[in-house]
Amino acid sequence: MDKLDNLVDGYGRRLTYLRISVTDRCNLRCVYCMPESGVSLINHEDIISYEDILRLARILSRHGVNKVRITGGEPLARKGLTDFVKKLAEIQGLSDISMTTNGILFDKYAHGLFDAGLKRINISLDSLNEKKFKKITRTGSLETVLKNIELAKKIGYNPVKINTVLIRGINDDEIIDFVNFARKFELNLRFIEYMPIGGNIADAVSSQEIEEKIKLEFEDFKPKKLKIKYNNVSDENVYDNKLSVYDGVSRLFGFDDGNDAVIGFISPMSEHFCGGCNRLRLTASGNLRLCLFYDDEYNIKDILKESDDEIVFEKISNIVKLKHFKHNFNEKMEKKGDISWANDFMNAIGG
Ligand code: SAM
Ligand code: SF4
Repeated sequence: MDKLDNLVDGYGRRLTYLRISVTDRCNLRCVYCMPESGVSLINHEDIISYEDILRLARILSRHGVNKVRITGGEPLARKGLTDFVKKLAEIQGLSDISMTTNGILFDKYAHGLFDAGLKRINISLDSLNEKKFKKITRTGSLETVLKNIELAKKIGYNPVKINTVLIRGINDDEIIDFVNFARKFELNLRFIEYMPIGGNIADAVSSQEIEEKIKLEFEDFKPKKLKIKYNNVSDENVYDNKLSVYDGVSRLFGFDDGNDAVIGFISPMSEHFCGGCNRLRLTASGNLRLCLFYDDEYNIKDILKESDDEIVFEKISNIVKLKHFKHNFNEKMEKKGDISWANDFMNAIGG
């Protein structure tokens, strides 16, 4: 075990960020995430319990994990989430708790979650046009999501981040509309490159292509060191390598004209951002996953049957030593020619 007793992988990277998928169920069927018919869902009794997740979070928080993201499926589709967030927020050492949601059910829970300790939120939004929004989500209402983004800002969630995935031929003509939307409401919008996970095939739009289009329209669009004002949350993830400014895996841009909007690019496909990876993922069925792109999973529910927290930690510590240095998606694609080997859909892993 590492002498500092932190969770450290075989390459010496400290793992400080746990992404928790609380459910694989979802009220939408986004084309790039799930097949229209839905996917075979995990039985209710096989979903990891909140008690198990909380125990895991407590143990890992004592060993350096300080950041947690709740995701899914649609996290707001799981009962009891507000109470779960409250208990998560009480764990000492977890300084940053966030959630990614499609925003549809957000108004029902927004105040309660904020009071429970959730202070920042990512809302996914792939189109500003009702018809296209329906085409992408196959259901769901754009108006509801827009209202809920406004509500999040009004309540004081900070930052409110918008996750946008572009698919060629569907919403790639909305790049400038999205930038204007972010500028109008001074939002932090991140374009995420489509990842062909789960054998899903869509034509991705690279971050570079999006960046070029924005630069043509906005002369003062520049990499920007930001004073990130997360409530009580440090900006330790923000770093600057002279050419680019990063917040975790997101390459950040802003505008010189005084507008506070932030545009980020998350480029899992076109840039290898894996080198500094600090992430672990817990799937809804209670498996630890070391990388989005490798299907190997490790059963945490079994490990948690151990009553001694330090034995649990030691077992997890041994598992994380198996984390690969970087994803090998592009190499696998070249070798195999297709993506039929990519098994899990994103709703199960949590994005
Ligand atoms: N249901 C919630 C939502 O949509 O925000 C949380 C779960 S969703 C899997 C988390 C994020 O993953 C969303 O922002 C979604 O756009 C993104 N996502 C899903 N499938 C993806 C894919 N194949 N490539 C890139 N991003 C994807
Ligand atoms: Fe559901 Fe989120 Fe996947 Fe869309 S991206 S189908 S909202 S889990």
